[in-house]
Amino acid sequence: MLAEPVVNKIKGHVSSMVKQLKSKYGITPKLVAVMISNDPASRKYVELKTADCAEVGIISEVINLSGYAKEEMPQKVAKTIRELNDDPTVNAILPQMPFDDVISPETVFSQLSPEKDADGLTSYNLGRLSRKEYTLDDSLIPCTPKGIILLAKHYGVPIEGSEVAIINRSPLVGTPLWKLFLDLHATPTCYHTKSPRLRERVKEADIIVAAVGRHPKIYGDKGFQLTGDMVKKGSAVFSVGQQQDPENPKKMLFDVDEESLEGKCAFLTPNKGGVGPMTRACLLENTLIATLHQKKMGAI
Ligand code: NAP
Repeated sequence: MLAEPVVNKIKGHVSSMVKQLKSKYGITPKLVAVMISNDPASRKYVELKTADCAEVGIISEVINLSGYAKEEMPQKVAKTIRELNDDPTVNAILPQMPFDDVISPETVFSQLSPEKDADGLTSYNLGRLSRKEYTLDDSLIPCTPKGIILLAKHYGVPIEGSEVAIINRSPLVGTPLWKLFLDLHATPTCYHTKSPRLRERVKEADIIVAAVGRHPKIYGDKGFQLTGDMVKKGSAVFSVGQQQDPENPKKMLFDVDEESLEGKCAFLTPNKGGVGPMTRACLLENTLIATLHQKKMGAI
């Protein structure tokens, strides 16, 4: 199922709220992406995010630190984030992952103001998620997990009482998604490289989220791809993981083999036009949420 109707709904809401903020208070939300890696895929995502912001009237800026040497990076990142935290015209900050082992995510996110945490990845916002001190429409929740839940809800995928297999345990995708599904009364499990009987257990799941990004073409036996023989009939599948084909940089290799799943699933997000656009729409919404909170607290 395409994300387009949900994406359009979110963009419509954000766009109208941005207009209201501007006309009532003279405030235009601003999102700043900080690039640490020069990875081409990250550059592409940031370009798309910049275009999304323009579409809904959010100001966006990209600060590219990728040219600095590894030794200089901790200092440069700290200075940049401190300045953005202190700048009242900046409402949301997105440290663009991956960081390519140049600096640890913990170091980056520990410096970020939770009020400007566009992807909800600071300990504060993840802590609020873990303590169930959040709402889906008013809290800074990681964008990809939130996008998956909104898509599932929009298309009426039954969540309560379902078994969910999330193949990923990262703080960006798997663990926040596990918590969101748990709070919606599903029984989610995160699978990873050390999980026993992965194939058998995934086949028992009602909902499967494939978010690995290690295609067998490159990783062989250590890779992962979800094929038709691994899912039970009538299941719902979310395709998240992808990576560039090293033999052809224009081609992406996806976690989900769409062709072999065709006709087996009751719900399948396409590799293109599914979870990716939802993630970006949730980033716009998070920028708006952060701005509204800052306004409410009198910070802007
Ligand atoms: P990550 O931190 O590298 O996490 C990958 C996860 O997959 C880890 O939990 C890893 O297990 C697990 N894994 C690796 N090989 C496996 C295997 N053979 N069998 C089972 N599990 C395996 O990556 P990430 O940042 O979470 O992103 C994951 C993928 O999602 C990437 O392809 C990324 O590009 C994509 N993504 C897409 C979007 C979107 O909007 N479409 C957003 C975010 C991420 P261990 O923990 O044991 O290493």
